[in-house]
Amino acid sequence: MDLILRGAALADGRCDQDIGIAGERIVAVEPHLAATGAREIDVRGSLVSAPFVDAHFHMDATLSLGLPRLNRSGTLLEGIALWGELKPLLTVEAVAERALAYCDWAVAKGLLAIRSHVDVCDPRLIAVEALLEVKRRVKPYLDLQLVAFPQDGYLRAPGAAAQLKRALDLGVEVVGGIPHFERTMAEGASSVRALCEIAARRGLRVDMHCDESDDPLSRHVETLAAETMRLGLHGRVTGSHLTSMHSMDNYYASKLLDLMAEARLNVVANPLINITLQGRQDTYPKRRGMTRVKEQMARGLTVAFGHDCVMDPWYSLGSGDMLEVAQMGLHVGQLTSLDEIAACFRAVTDNAAAILGLDAYGVAPGCYADLVVLQASDPIEAIRLRPARLHVIRRGQVIAETPPATAKLSLPGRPATTDFRHTPAP
Ligand SMILES: [Zn+2]
Repeated sequence: MDLILRGAALADGRCDQDIGIAGERIVAVEPHLAATGAREIDVRGSLVSAPFVDAHFHMDATLSLGLPRLNRSGTLLEGIALWGELKPLLTVEAVAERALAYCDWAVAKGLLAIRSHVDVCDPRLIAVEALLEVKRRVKPYLDLQLVAFPQDGYLRAPGAAAQLKRALDLGVEVVGGIPHFERTMAEGASSVRALCEIAARRGLRVDMHCDESDDPLSRHVETLAAETMRLGLHGRVTGSHLTSMHSMDNYYASKLLDLMAEARLNVVANPLINITLQGRQDTYPKRRGMTRVKEQMARGLTVAFGHDCVMDPWYSLGSGDMLEVAQMGLHVGQLTSLDEIAACFRAVTDNAAAILGLDAYGVAPGCYADLVVLQASDPIEAIRLRPARLHVIRRGQVIAETPPATAKLSLPGRPATTDFRHTPAP
């Protein structure tokens, strides 16, 4: 075998597993694997997971913080206006360079698949051109999936409909939308219908920014679920944000959750961004503004957490660390039972991979040898510590390494070092 990881702890609770890799694939996962590897890595006591997956990001805007100015109100709407000021100033080279820099961060954090929305409301389609090139360049180490996103409204922005089609023709692979930003509720619903029909005709997935609003009457998710069923798109449609669900009447929400389950609608919550953007017009009590993750998970919906933004017009922080995203989702959603914490880890790994439709993802024979070795013993400890990504492996090759974090101590009668794990590795 080409590479063997010895003594891995897996996210499903199995311990002391050897992972054998030949070429680009995992060929064995078992205790005490008899084979020898051209290279062997001792990972005893460390969690080895399939890589992190970000189901919702904006790579065309990332690392543009401060260009051409900062968001003073901190609201979604000023962010959209600010991005509108920056758009005419974009160049293919600058967008690509910032995106590639972000991909470097992502790889270092074990984040090896990203679904990025790309704004198609610029008639030059600068961001589309740049991100298609970035997608091609990063393919050996990161899966970049692009969504044609009409940021200024599919019906509201002149030319958006034609530009969205052009972006799909150029190779953008998912249909986006933003019904709550259309001029009226009726136009929002029309946009959902038209966009789902485009996806059905072309055999594409759908991922809409949907009801990213504090308005409890923003109910486009209902239309999204209904159109999913009408067009037979079950399981291929994602509602991103869905923050209005946080403000909805409980009776209506219970009916809506059933409809979403019937449509097998996927959900992406973006906890870092929505805890800062939502509830801005509230005094007190102030709404948290994340969608009803606990209830969606309980209905069996596939729910992922997305990063959404890193250092852009909407959010000035972030580093590509999906464990930071999971940790915020856990807090905002009060997902504190052991099962719920484990579900938060799946929200940035397995569930996100399912939403993207990634091929051969996982830690099992036959899967791609895409893995991250964490300085933590299990998923709960990973979220608690957001630890070093000791080794990041893509298609059987180690592509990033970070030394373990340990503190040196000078305390009488105590060990000389500590690494913050509850049970340090042997
Ligand atoms: Zn977004």
